[in-house]
Amino acid sequence: MSATKKCPNCGQWSRWTQNPTDRCEHCNSVLDPVAVARQQAREERKLAEDEHLSLKFIQINPNDPWYKSFFKRIGLGFQIAFVSIISFILWLIALLAG
Ligand SMILES: [Zn+2]
Repeated sequence: MSATKKCPNCGQWSRWTQNPTDRCEHCNSVLDPVAVARQQAREERKLAEDEHLSLKFIQINPNDPWYKSFFKRIGLGFQIAFVSIISFILWLIALLAG
């Protein structure tokens, strides 16, 4: 399938594969700036979501003194309990919504 699109910059018609990264054959400017901006926004949002979802667990270092690893274990226990409760609530919501 071959399509053409009018370049918003120079007004010439260029080959267009409906790809946001397609560029004008005449002036090399982006053929569909709106799609490019939309795709960038989508990628940034996805990145932010990934960061939000990745929860960092406390790392227990074997070389830590006993009191340090003791408190770390308590913190880790709370983290695991918290994650379990959240996943249980999400599971419950999915169950009730389904
Ligand atoms: Zn152009």
